[in-house]
Amino acid sequence: MFHVLRRIARTGIVSEPPPKPAAEDVLVARLQHDILRTLGRALTIRHVDAGSCNACELEAHALMNPYYNIEGLGIRFVASPRHADALLVTGPVTKHMAIALRRTYDATPEPKLVIAAGECACGRGIFGESYATIGAVDKVLPVDVTIPGCPPSPTALLGGILAAISRAAPVARHEPALGEHPDTTEHAQPADARSTSTSVPDPRPPVD
Ligand code: SF4
Repeated sequence: MFHVLRRIARTGIVSEPPPKPAAEDVLVARLQHDILRTLGRALTIRHVDAGSCNACELEAHALMNPYYNIEGLGIRFVASPRHADALLVTGPVTKHMAIALRRTYDATPEPKLVIAAGECACGRGIFGESYATIGAVDKVLPVDVTIPGCPPSPTALLGGILAAISRAAPVARHEPALGEHPDTTEHAQPADARSTSTSVPDPRPPVD
């Protein structure tokens, strides 16, 4: 027994040190920390594919893997707009999806946030406007935050969600006092009354 312990002490640690975290790992960790601190409660998101090529969806799905761990941050994708605080809209809005998108928005309770994710949703995508597409989401709905990128990375999507909840932070942080009627609490402006949207830059280096 002592012979083995002596040998372990003599040999020391022979493995290589772990690699330093990449710049994106540091950024993801910071965003995760900021989201947890800002949110203060759960956030539910209804995703609407308004006509995407599906690449934006793949990046959004990556948010649910163990690395980005969006559920661990208290953010959940839900199946019904009636349970959602925010809409995450991807793709150029097709003419067939415009009514469904508007109805989804109308079914989402106030205060609600709208995040347009991807170049197409921002109105700069390769599909643009055509006989079949209306284009940018803000032609159909008031948009709070736009996230560029084709497709935007999960890190960019995290940054956009953080920007959106930062806009609604007074509501997210407000806890009614005991006996306070919920109607007297401060609400964020209804989305229709908000005029400006925030654009979140894609943290990835440009592709040549
Ligand atoms: S932004 Fe790019 S990835 Fe997203 S729907 Fe448009 S073409 Fe597809």
